[in-house]
Amino acid sequence: MTRKQIAIIGGGPAGLAAAEVLSQAGHAITVYDSMPTVARKFLLAGKSGLNITHAEDYRQFADRYGTSNAQLRPALDGFGPADVRAWAAGLGVETFVGSSGRVFPRAMKASPLLRAWLKRLQAAGVTVLTRHRWIGFDDGGHLFETPEGERRIACDATLLAFGGASWPRLGSDGHWTAALSGKGIGIAPFRPANCGFDVAWSEIFSERYAGAPLKSVTATSDAGTVPGEFVISRHGIEGSLVYAHAAALRDRLETTGKASLLVDLAPGRSANRLAKDLARQDAKASLSTRLRKAAGLEGVKTALLRELVPAGDLGNADSLSHWIKALPIPLLRPRPIAEAISSAGGITWDSVDETYMLKAMPGTFVAGEMLDWEAPTGGYLLTACFASGRAAAEGLSAWLKR
Ligand SMILES: Cc1cc2nc3c(=O)[nH]c(=O)nc-3n(C[C@H](O)[C@H](O)[C@H](O)COP(=O)(O)OP(=O)(O)OC[C@H]3O[C@@H](n4cnc5c(N)ncnc54)[C@H](O)[C@@H]3O)c2cc1C
Repeated sequence: MTRKQIAIIGGGPAGLAAAEVLSQAGHAITVYDSMPTVARKFLLAGKSGLNITHAEDYRQFADRYGTSNAQLRPALDGFGPADVRAWAAGLGVETFVGSSGRVFPRAMKASPLLRAWLKRLQAAGVTVLTRHRWIGFDDGGHLFETPEGERRIACDATLLAFGGASWPRLGSDGHWTAALSGKGIGIAPFRPANCGFDVAWSEIFSERYAGAPLKSVTATSDAGTVPGEFVISRHGIEGSLVYAHAAALRDRLETTGKASLLVDLAPGRSANRLAKDLARQDAKASLSTRLRKAAGLEGVKTALLRELVPAGDLGNADSLSHWIKALPIPLLRPRPIAEAISSAGGITWDSVDETYMLKAMPGTFVAGEMLDWEAPTGGYLLTACFASGRAAAEGLSAWLKR
């Protein structure tokens, strides 16, 4: 087979995973990226420990992608959580399973893994050209903006891995959508995923409690009931428990204009028991004292009740116990996509075939977060980016041999 020129555009986890597979097939690979360095979002993910995959039962793992479970399954079967860990180990990065089943590198950061990965790619002959911003298709090739001006490149096949639309300052800004939809490719609008929400807090509450964590609570939405913690922010609510419900809450806001996160502030106690313990308190004692003694609630939890419960119910043991067990936090809107961990939306599944090739553009493959799927936090995002990058690379390789 003659050596083919392959352009991989986007040097995030999906693009680099594709480069690794394609370089093994002996092709001439160039990875183009608009930023001065590649994989900036991957490095940022490392700031919170780099949750690279998840150790739960594989069938459960592969079911975390909602309406995209079926489409992503073959790629995940080809490169699943165990493969991610073995791959990292092969790059000299040992991983461990945290208490929640999440898998992290021992160093709890991305930079050693990325360094070793780029070194391996370089040794395999992959060229990385940064400060190359793709601005459109050009007669079977591509047009880039570079510090030296516009540059045209020709290639035998292309793999696009532009990423989604969250954190645009790290490179993935979604500006590619117009050029692709101009080619007849279906693109679902980008929406924030794993995001916080705005809440109409009183000024006094947000000033005093922004940054305060609500620990050991459970929260309920259409996504079910999940234990965990979240944080009060100046604008609303943020944190892992909110992200676990974010897709369901965002969808409900979109369809009905209204959504609340229902919080149980005392998951270990029943409403009955709380009502009895509250009724036993001295009626003249302050709300804080009654809540501390009867329900073990303090600080931000008490303040949240004061903020959201009608004043008349705060003195009534029965009503108050029900609010403690099911306190709805009314949400205004998701926080902007620029702040979200990830995005939903992107190239629709009906625009690609099972090898990740664009049906409307034979020879052009796509992978990673630029495709229309979403998943919760927990290592699912990175695993699917690696897996789809590799699957698209295999598709491209087979297409070249056809
Ligand atoms: C704060 C934060 C924490 C996260 N933590 C985790 C975590 O712990 N675990 C997890 O699984 N996921 C995490 N994620 C999500 C994960 O980082 C992303 O899902 C993943 O990086 C997406 O990979 P990708 O290769 O598809 O796209 P990206 O990583 O976004 O890479 C796309 C690349 O394409 C380049 N590009 C875009 N447009 C152009 C253009 N026009 N021309 C040239 N190049 C272009 C960009 O510069 C970028 O380098 C986190 C995300 C954020 C923001």
